[in-house]
Order: sequence, then C-alpha cells, then structure tokens
Amino acid sequence: MYEIGHFIGGERVAGQSGRTAEIFNPATGEVQGQVALASNEELRAAVENAKAAQPAWAATNPQRRARVMMKFVELLNRDMDKLAEALSKEHGKTFPDAKGDVQRGLEVAEFCMAAPQMMKGEFSEGAGPGIDIYSIRQPLGVVAGITPFNFPAMIPMWKFCPAIAAGNAFILKPSERDPAVPMMLAELMMEAGLPAGILNVVNGDKGAVDAILDDPDIAAIGFVGSTAIAKYIYGRGSSNGKRVQCFGGAKNHMIIMPDADMDKAVDALIGAGYGAAGERCMAVSVAVPVGEETADRLVEKLIPKVESLKIGPYTASDDVDFGPLVTREAQKRVLGLVDRGVEEGAKLVVDGRNFKMQGYEDGFFVGACLFDNVKKDMDIYKTEIFGPVLSVARAKDYEDALDLPMSHEYGNGVAIFTRDGDAARDFASRINIGMVGINVPIPVPLSYYTFGGWKASGFGDLNQHGADGFRFYTRTKTVTSRWPSGIKDGAEFSIPTMK
Ligand code: NAD
Repeated sequence: MYEIGHFIGGERVAGQSGRTAEIFNPATGEVQGQVALASNEELRAAVENAKAAQPAWAATNPQRRARVMMKFVELLNRDMDKLAEALSKEHGKTFPDAKGDVQRGLEVAEFCMAAPQMMKGEFSEGAGPGIDIYSIRQPLGVVAGITPFNFPAMIPMWKFCPAIAAGNAFILKPSERDPAVPMMLAELMMEAGLPAGILNVVNGDKGAVDAILDDPDIAAIGFVGSTAIAKYIYGRGSSNGKRVQCFGGAKNHMIIMPDADMDKAVDALIGAGYGAAGERCMAVSVAVPVGEETADRLVEKLIPKVESLKIGPYTASDDVDFGPLVTREAQKRVLGLVDRGVEEGAKLVVDGRNFKMQGYEDGFFVGACLFDNVKKDMDIYKTEIFGPVLSVARAKDYEDALDLPMSHEYGNGVAIFTRDGDAARDFASRINIGMVGINVPIPVPLSYYTFGGWKASGFGDLNQHGADGFRFYTRTKTVTSRWPSGIKDGAEFSIPTMK
C-alpha cells in the first residue's frame, strides 16, 4: 500500500483534507494505494506558490526554458521503464503500450524545445511615418490542466510542456485513478532544472476541479475527459472569465471501401479497436464496410482474429494484446452495454462477456466482443463504450458510409481504407471530423501538428500541442510605436490613419 499526496512548491506533500480515494491494481482488483483528494485550501496553496514563482520564470529567457525541456526529455528516456511500469500497474495497459504513452508525451516535450521560436512575434517597420507595429506573445500567468485516466503520462505532458515552456506556472489535476506517473513527471521536471512552484500537481476529484474552475488567479484551463464533464468545465470555467479548451469523448468510425486491402484493414481494426482494451479516445469503435460483399468478407476475417486476441496482466511474460479495464465500474458499464446491444438486436458474433483471466479472477477484464449489424438508432452505436468492443455498421454505398460519422454526435477521429485516391480526397475534404486517417486507423497527429476533435469531442478554440499549445497558453500584445518625430511637433486632433 502506498499513499500519494500532492506536489506543491517543488516537493511531494501529504494531503491535509482527510479525504482520499482508492487506487486499484486493475489486473488483480486489489486496492494498492490511496490518493489524497485536495481541499479548496490545498488548491489555493498551490496557486499561491505558482503565482509567486511565475514572474521570474517568465523573465527567464526562452532558450533557458527550452533547456529544461531538453533535460526533461533526457530524463524521460532514462526513466522510461520505471515510468511505464508505474503506469501499467495503475492503468492496466500493457508494458509496451505504457511506453508508447510516455513516448507520445516525450515528443511534445521535444517539440517544446522550440519555445524561443514559438514565442516570436511579428514586426512591421514603417507602418506609417515613423511608426512601427509589433506583436509579442506573453504567458498568461498561472494556468491549469485537468486530465483523464487513459493516458496518464501523455496528456499531462500535452498540457504542461507548452504552458511551462511559454513561461507560465502550471497546476495539474490528473485523474485520481492513476496518479503515480504525473507525480513522477513533476519530480523529473524539478530534476531537469525547473524552479519550485512552476509545476504543481494537485490530486483530487470534483472538489479540486471546482476549486480550479472558480479560482480567480487561474487564467486558463485545458481539459481532457468525457463529454459531459467537458461541457460542464467549459461552461463554468468560461463563465468565470477564463480561457478554456475542453476535449471530450469519441466514437471513431473506419470506412472500408470495396477496393481496400482487406488484410491490412482487418489488422488495422484489430489494433485500433482492441488496443488498450479500447480505452483510447482515438480507438476505432465502428467499422463501416461498404457493400454487403465487403461486409461479409470483413466479418469473416475479423472473427478468428478477435477470438484469438491475448488478454492478460501487464506482468505476463508472453505477448499480451490488451489488459483489464481501469475499474470495476468501467467493467460493469462495458458488460452492461454489450447486454444492451444484444437486447437491441445487434448480432454479437464474438462474445467476450464470460471471459475470466486464470489466476486473476477478480481483475477488471472483459473479453473482446464483436457486433455485426449495428444500426444508427441503437444505444451501442450512439454511446462511447470505451471497452474492447467493435461494432460493424454495414453501409450500402459510399454516401451511406459517409453519412454515419457525419451525422454522429462525436467528431474526434475517422479513417477510410481504400486504394482510390479520389474517394480518399473527397472523404478528407467533406468529413466534419477533426482528425482523418487515410489507410491509417488511428490518425493521432504528431507533436508538431495539433490534436483536437470537432462537434461534441471539443469545446472552445485551438487544439492541443503543436503551435496551438503555445497559442492557448499565451496571449498576444500588439504595440504601435512612433519614434521620434510627431509628438514633439504638437497635438493631433483627427484620428490617425495610415493613408
Ligand atoms: P472523466 O471525464 O471521468 O475524467 C476526466 C477528469 O475530470 C478527471 O481528472 C476527473 O477527476 C475529472 N472529473 C470527473 N468527474 C468530474 C465531475 N463530476 N466534476 C468535475 N471533474 C470531474 O474522463 P475519464 O474517464 O478519466 O477519461 C475517459 C474519457 O476521456 C473518454 O470519454 C475519452 O474519450 C476521453 N478522452 C478524450 C481525449 C481527447 O483528446 N478528446 C483524449 C483522451 C481521453
């Protein structure tokens, strides 16, 4: 059993509120630790600390701030296995997948070494007689990030790396389900040379989140999690005058055209549908084969592959494709949705509901499930299942297939598998979804592009990481200056123009 408190003022501190939450080992179902749930006062202490430290950090030249990111990347590489192990132990994902989680965050830290370049403004010399105009980007001050359980390394780094490289102080409120890695990341940032108070981790639940939303000194909040909470945070945070960006849930479709390389499409669906037990916001959860013949071929090839997926704890010595779900509630919820799909009349062609992991009977495992004949009006089609469940929704033609993701509530990711450049081009142009894959099932943009969904998958402006990461956590100041003649020539009474 271990206890996790908070990280405030450059060190780990014990929780003071008397409230804690249990941390489970999802593979065994056992409670392995407790995490402190912060009170308003504890959040306030972190903000005060951050506020005091931020001006000196903002005044540190951007190359020196970039060097902290450079060192941080080196330390992440040094501790990669340690971080991945701690991550798997609380999240349940496989060890290689946990390393991927750290790696995709590391790549954002790597991009943030470009802080000196990203903070550059614009300059127009001679915009008028003796007049120069320039813009500068300045940090916002104290900013925050509220992150989900499913990528406890990557998503905190998406948030704090650009914010800190830009000169802000940061309050991270990670998921209470897997808080170990965010605390380790804060320690590594200190080791990399970050001054105390610039990165604080405040653990907690709704109480800590509400304290962040209402805190007068927090200027911006970046959130990632489920859509219901995203909407809530967007509403309350922005009505308090903060800059808020919220990324929500998803239901990602993959369209398989009749001309697609079927073996490649099937492999892509298996990895994208069942990897991380489907607990990815970019997981493919709906396969849309075009035409009955394509659908029959697809389902026939999918069934044996789904049946032979290897499930197990991250400690298993042989290759495991995916692990348990994060909590017992998540397991119950997913099993309930599979039951619902059967009641609604979808055809459950692979039934993983009775899967039991030998030696881990109390773990939160769910076997891989595959539905065929899923229809638009079914709950299992409309809801984000967030488990190892893939639905096949058959489309009669390309337009019918396009209509499914277009008319779905969510708009995070989508993919098309085809050999036809014209179909792919038309699809990428018309689709109303933020991230598009062409023969790529999980089109998560690399760190130097930006990540963000449309419709109910994203609220507010600007995406995460890439140039938008810097834009979100900075503001523009535009200076119009006139030197040296003009003022000394006397007052002007008509509005200055640039004629
Ligand atoms: P969640 O919404 O339950 O939790 C996210 C964060 O909000 C956590 O820090 C949690 O403590 C906090 N929170 C939970 N309930 C709250 C409440 N009532 N009031 C205030 N704060 C609250 O999400 P989760 O289960 O941790 O993560 C899974 C979800 O995140 C999925 O819907 C997934 O699609 C989504 N997700 C989206 C993206 C994206 O970029 N669009 C990326 C990863 C995950």
